[in-house]
Amino acid sequence: MEKTIIIGGGVAGLCAGIFGQLSGQNCVILEKQKVAGGLLSGWSRGEYHIDNCMHWLVGTHPQNPLYDRWRKVGMLDQGLPIIKNTVFYESQIGREKLALHRDIKKTASAMLRLSPGDSKAISELLGCVSALAELMRSPRPRHLYQHIAKGSKEAKIYTSIFLRYGRKTLDELARDFHHPLLRAILTDFIGAPFSALSWIWTYASFVAGDSDLPKGGSVLAAKRLENRFLSLGGELCTGAEVKRILHTDNMAVGVELKSGELISGDAIICATDPAVTAQMLPDVASLYQSCFKGLETFSAIHLAFAVEEGALPFENTLIFDLNSQNPLLYATPFGHAVSGHFISPPQGRLMLKVYPPETGFAPRGECVVQCIRFVSQEVADQWISLSADKEKYKSAKQNYAHAVAEEIMRRFSSLHKMKYLDMWTPATYTRYTGAYRGAFLGHIAHVGAMRTKMPTKIPHLENVFLASAWQHAPSGLPVALQMGEKAAKCADAYLKALRKREGRRVPSQMWG
Ligand SMILES: Cc1cc2nc3c(=O)[nH]c(=O)nc-3n(C[C@H](O)[C@H](O)[C@H](O)COP(=O)(O)OP(=O)(O)OC[C@H]3O[C@@H](n4cnc5c(N)ncnc54)[C@H](O)[C@@H]3O)c2cc1C
Repeated sequence: MEKTIIIGGGVAGLCAGIFGQLSGQNCVILEKQKVAGGLLSGWSRGEYHIDNCMHWLVGTHPQNPLYDRWRKVGMLDQGLPIIKNTVFYESQIGREKLALHRDIKKTASAMLRLSPGDSKAISELLGCVSALAELMRSPRPRHLYQHIAKGSKEAKIYTSIFLRYGRKTLDELARDFHHPLLRAILTDFIGAPFSALSWIWTYASFVAGDSDLPKGGSVLAAKRLENRFLSLGGELCTGAEVKRILHTDNMAVGVELKSGELISGDAIICATDPAVTAQMLPDVASLYQSCFKGLETFSAIHLAFAVEEGALPFENTLIFDLNSQNPLLYATPFGHAVSGHFISPPQGRLMLKVYPPETGFAPRGECVVQCIRFVSQEVADQWISLSADKEKYKSAKQNYAHAVAEEIMRRFSSLHKMKYLDMWTPATYTRYTGAYRGAFLGHIAHVGAMRTKMPTKIPHLENVFLASAWQHAPSGLPVALQMGEKAAKCADAYLKALRKREGRRVPSQMWG
C-alpha cells in the first residue's frame, strides 16, 4: 500500500495524519523532537507545570463548524470538561480598572460608568460585537462566503461590520474613544497595528460562548491528537529529523533523515514551519515570499512565576501600566529603546496571565503566572542572534527577568512572595520547532492581511503538499487543523489518481 510521509508532528502534521488515516492512507509522521505536538506544548520546572500554548481554542462551541473537526481529531472528547472564564481580560491604568466580561451588558455598563462621554462609540462597537456573537451562536454554514452568497440577514450584518471596521487598525479604533482606559483596553491584548476586526472577532467569539479551553492544557491536548492518530493505525517516529526531500524533476520519492536513514514515500506532506520547509525545498522560500510579501511576523518573550493563588489581583489576564524608570523594561536585548518594538501590550505596559487556570499545574494553594510581551521581528531577531553567545544570552535573560519581577512586586504588594520559574524568548521557538524569526503566531494581522493565503500544493512537485498554521491569517490551532485536513485530502486525491493511471509506477517503487 502507498505510504504518505508527514514531516513534522505539530497540530497540522497530526491532523494531516488523522485525516489521512481516515481516508485510508498509510501515514507515517516524522517528528524531530522526542514528543509530538510542536508548539502545542508545555514543560515542568520542579513541582510547577508551564503551559505554553492554548489560551483560547476557537471551536469549543458546538455551533462553530470547527467543533466537529476538533471532535474528530480528539482535541475535544466526549465528556472532556471545558474551562470557561467569565472575563476575557482586564486593563488597568493607575487605580482604574476595566474588564471585558463574557456578559457583554456588564462590559457596556462598566464602560459607560467609566466614560459617559464615549457612549456613542461604546454602543456602536459593542453593538457590533453583540450582533456578531449572536450570529456565532446560531447554526451557520461552514464558510462565511456561503452566508454572503445567500444574501441573508446574516450577510448584511457581516457586510456592515466589514464596511465599518474592515479598514481600521486597533490604534485607529482606539482613537474613536476619549477615555485613556478605553483606548488602552483595545490595544492591550492583540496590539495596535492589528486589524480592528481581529479584536471584534475574538471578543465576539468569547461573548458567544466559544473560544474556551479544554481541561488539561496544551500537553494533554497534543497527547489526545497523537493517541487518535495511533488508534487509527498511523505510525509516529519521534527523534526523526528530516534533512531533505529526495525528488526527481516533478515528483518526490522519499526523505533523508539527519541520521542518514532514507525513507521512501508516495506522497509527502510538509507540516513544518515554512522556514524549515524552505531548507528542504528551496521553491517554498520564493512561494512564501510571494504570498506574504511585506507582512511582518511577531513573537514574544515570556516569563513564568509561581504565586500564591489568593494573592492574584485579577481573574485570568491583567494588562497594566509600567511605572518603572528601569530602562531594561523598555529596551531590546541590546539596550536600544525604540518605539514600536513591543507590539502587545504596547510600550510601557505589561501583561500578567494565569495560563491556563488549571488545578494541578502547581502545588496546592499556588498557581503559575506568566508575563508575556509580544515583540516585533527586529526584537525577535536580536534575541535569536544573542542566543549564539550562551553567557550573554543567559545574562540578558536574568537582567530582564529581574527587572520585570521587581516591577510586578513593587506594583502589587500581594505578589511580594512570587518565585521566578523560567524565561524563554523567540530564540526558544527557533531552536524547538525551527520557527521563522522565532515567530509562533504567523503574521501581524494588518488590515488586508487576513486575505493572504499560501497554497497547499507547491509548483513542480506533484506529490508534495504543505500543511501549516502559517498558511493563512490569523494562524493558530484552527488553521493548523484545517491545513492538515486539506493536505491529507490533496494527498488522497493524488494517490487515487495515481492508482487509476495505468502502467504508472508509484513513487516508492522508483526507489533504488
Ligand atoms: C505561547 C503560545 C501561545 C499560543 N496560543 C494559542 C492559542 O491560544 N490559540 C491558538 O489557536 N493558537 C495558539 N498558538 C499557536 C499554535 O500553537 C500554533 O499556531 C500551532 O500549534 C502551529 O502548529 P503547526 O503544526 O502548524 O506548527 P508547529 O507546531 O511548529 O509544528 C511543526 C513541527 O515540525 C517539527 N519539525 C521541525 N523541523 C523538523 C524536521 N526537520 N524534521 C521533522 N520534524 C520537524 C517541529 O518539531 C514541530 O513539531 C500559540 C502558540 C504559542 C507558542
